[in-house]
Amino acid sequence: MSVKTKFIRAMFAMMHLPTCEEVEQFAYDFLEGALDSSTMKVVGRHLKACKNCQRFIAAYRKTASLGKTFQKPSLDPEFKEKLFEFLSHQGGRP
Ligand SMILES: [Zn+2]
Repeated sequence: MSVKTKFIRAMFAMMHLPTCEEVEQFAYDFLEGALDSSTMKVVGRHLKACKNCQRFIAAYRKTASLGKTFQKPSLDPEFKEKLFEFLSHQGGRP
């Protein structure tokens, strides 16, 4: 571990911020907004101070959005419900 990394770690510890490794582990949940607000806040603060993690999150976001484009869009649940309702009514008629 370099002196610089040690210094940055000490600084984050002093500010009660997660380390870069922790932020990288949180990346997915952070982008999904799945973290609780206090974790979201400290991760956000770390990101403001850390160029490394800014780059990591940006790259992660790119990969994540690429992955999403390959997923089929799911039906709107409300629309699905209406469709089922419509179909069941149709079937119920003599
Ligand atoms: Zn970092």
